[in-house]
Amino acid sequence: MNAKRICFSFGLLLALSGYCSNDPAWLVQVQNEQRPWAIHGSIVSEHGVQDGWVVFHRGVITTIEANEDRLPINARKISCDGYIFPGLIDTHNHVPWNVLPHWRADHKFNSRYEWLTNSAYIREVNNVFYNNIRRANLEDAALKYGEIRALIGGTTALQSSYATPEPRCLIRTLDSNYMEDSRIPDICATNAGADIKRFTNGLAAGTTRRVFLHIGEGKASDPKAASEFAFLRTNNLVRSGVVIIHGTALSKSELREMAAAGMYLVWSPESNFILYGETAQILEALEAGVIVSLAPDWTITGSDNVLQELKVAWNYSQTHLGGKVTPEELYRMVTINAAKVAGVDQFLGKIAPTFAADLFIAPKLDANPYLSLLQSRPKDIQLVFVDGQPIYGSTDQMQNLVNMRVFATNIVDEIDVDGAKKGIVTLGDPLTDPHYNQHFSTITNILTTALSTNLAKLLED
Ligand SMILES: [Zn+2]
Repeated sequence: MNAKRICFSFGLLLALSGYCSNDPAWLVQVQNEQRPWAIHGSIVSEHGVQDGWVVFHRGVITTIEANEDRLPINARKISCDGYIFPGLIDTHNHVPWNVLPHWRADHKFNSRYEWLTNSAYIREVNNVFYNNIRRANLEDAALKYGEIRALIGGTTALQSSYATPEPRCLIRTLDSNYMEDSRIPDICATNAGADIKRFTNGLAAGTTRRVFLHIGEGKASDPKAASEFAFLRTNNLVRSGVVIIHGTALSKSELREMAAAGMYLVWSPESNFILYGETAQILEALEAGVIVSLAPDWTITGSDNVLQELKVAWNYSQTHLGGKVTPEELYRMVTINAAKVAGVDQFLGKIAPTFAADLFIAPKLDANPYLSLLQSRPKDIQLVFVDGQPIYGSTDQMQNLVNMRVFATNIVDEIDVDGAKKGIVTLGDPLTDPHYNQHFSTITNILTTALSTNLAKLLED
């Protein structure tokens, strides 16, 4: 599937499914698809901040207008007193696993291979996931729950959603046939030869746009972690299109080699510090010219979502790097640079005509929009659109949409996010979403029963 098709597919499928369904909720949404949207606020674009209207139709931004008189006459208008940001892009996660609670070992590890074989990890995390979720056939429900945890923080696209064939649940998934997944536990293992061949052949032919690999994940002093980049080099994988996840053990010269080869780096400081007590040489990577994205890894040892990971990274920058990784740089790591890392920067990562209408509204907590975003919490997020469809927001905004007949009342679920009441639409597209007809309470009840953990609570303390 090419980028253009991803961009336009949801609106088309929505229309088809609506006409195939007897559910009046779908018909209301389809009718609304006939009308463009116009959202007013302080638009954060690559040119800075400007007050105006973002106009989009059938999932695609058509124009940005300063003057209300120039809006399409049939536009469905929403005004807000907040920043309008492009949707945040999560370039590395293990989404279905995010139904499990945080896991903390009693010591730091030298590399990923240590905790993957740690008996407590196997007992408390791995076995629980495999026995209670995967073998119980609940991975799709877990995926949807994991997507909700991301969505409430303004994330509208995710890498590593796992399920095959890939379902389209609530938000955009970036795993597809042009992007090899990052599930391979050890690319340097002797049995990985077929994978390496598939990657190099796919990259050479252009059929594989990106390969995401966990490389150098561990302490810089760990011989195995420190040797993995050299393994890539000898296997023709130091090349454009290869994305290194973590890279905590990479040397400065290897980071320079990455930049020269056109490789990418996904940075996950929270998970790195929890597991290893150290993280990638991020300033050196940036100075070398590596395009870096910021992502949570997963919630088990990482942040709840991209919004939280931004705070971790900014705190680290202030306390360890003299603030040299700036709020704007961090913002780019979860928007346009994340889109570059994922190979989707032609239609995701910024608010501009022809780009996907993936965006969210957050309050103005600071005159600087990047500092404001760093202060924002999920409970502050006012409204999130994915593919031009509003699916999450404050109860006021969601009630407003019900009043505008965008939704029937009974399809908006009330959820509690960090003590604040929010509204969410978990009903999805029947053609792509295995649980299209499940309300939030249904999803959480299934998973709560399977795990004996209350999953109605979306954020952990
Ligand atoms: Zn990972």
